[in-house]
Amino acid sequence: MNIPFNKPHLTGKEAHYMYQAVFNGHLSGNGEFTKKCQRFFEERYGFKKCLLTTSGTDALEMCAMLCDLKPGDEVIIPSYTFVSTALAFLREGAKVVFADSMKRNPNLDAEAIEALITPRTKVIVPVHYAGVACDMDKIMEIANRYNLLVVEDAAQAINSYYISHRCCDGRFAPSEENPRKEATILPLGGIGHLAAFSFHETKNITAGGEGGLLVVNDERFIRRAEIIWEKGTNRAEFFRGAVNKYGWVDMGSSFLPAEINAAFLWAQLENLDEIQNKRKALWETYYKLLKPLSEKGYFSMPVIPDYASNNAHMFYLILPNLEKRSALIKHLKDNGVLAVFHYLSLHSSAYYADKHDGRVLSECDRYADTLVRLPMYYDLEIEDVERICEVIKQFIR
Ligand SMILES: *Cc1c(COP(=O)(O)O)cnc(C)c1O
Repeated sequence: MNIPFNKPHLTGKEAHYMYQAVFNGHLSGNGEFTKKCQRFFEERYGFKKCLLTTSGTDALEMCAMLCDLKPGDEVIIPSYTFVSTALAFLREGAKVVFADSMKRNPNLDAEAIEALITPRTKVIVPVHYAGVACDMDKIMEIANRYNLLVVEDAAQAINSYYISHRCCDGRFAPSEENPRKEATILPLGGIGHLAAFSFHETKNITAGGEGGLLVVNDERFIRRAEIIWEKGTNRAEFFRGAVNKYGWVDMGSSFLPAEINAAFLWAQLENLDEIQNKRKALWETYYKLLKPLSEKGYFSMPVIPDYASNNAHMFYLILPNLEKRSALIKHLKDNGVLAVFHYLSLHSSAYYADKHDGRVLSECDRYADTLVRLPMYYDLEIEDVERICEVIKQFIR
């Protein structure tokens, strides 16, 4: 039997809640299920304001609009990410400055950010790759010092955390005068000024194929976020009774998902812990079974820094070179296992290569050539993971 790379999981309640949404008589956005989902995120993670969107891309576009960029303003984005991270800011007329990844994992190298800052820099966009946190104390400290906004691309990072050593007096960087105080555990998406999650069917939970969430942590952006969400109108205030008529007051678009998508998402949220526990068990099995081979140097495995948690969004291997990766993917495919690679470096993509400033981003290029993602989804069984690991062992032999 073939093992696909991904399979969207159904908890069993999706159709039931979608049926309820239909018979509630409120089909468009911002109905009961939308409000229930938004409240869930606000209560569980302490996010200030949550707005469901039709995709993670849309949530990122809302973030970019809220940053109020002027032509020529610069945004620092890792090159090793999905297109939408960059596209959202490029659409607003910003200049995207691509940053390299770390040596130890594909996340944005926080140490390399400062060298990219110019007087035009406005935003830093850390992407929590595979749901593993970027070094957020460092990134927030730089952002504070240069007065920049931070937009977290938390598309893959639902239910994942960062262990912060931010100092108690509110300053970020620990220093000799300001030594590290006790750790605080912060949910990813709750640290930057704004954040975007995705509920695409390839993510840990889905809103029926496509969906996303905008998180506003900085209160200054809440009112405008609601307006942009409601096609540039102050409709949300009208519904709250705060104004007696609503009209066009700002930029915006149609970012609200329909209620049936929110109903689908609600069924998944009710089962979030169960979904996460299963995914973690699968991840741990991969890790345990493949560790001996990684210790012999055949490939390396995901590195979770001590400031990060693991939400088991993805299990990947890093092969020594492109040829070996291609050979492994082929061997897996010949044995009925679908493994995939991604991302192609955005700075050298067909669309952006001639706009890039020519800096070499070698870690990013290395991940683009050598990273392979193994099957990871709720309905995968431990025995499947064991079989996949056997096929990999066979390949090494
Ligand atoms: C999935 C993903 C997105 C886009 O989310 P959609 O819901 O597919 O629009 C953006 N950034 C990253 C890092 C992603 O993994």
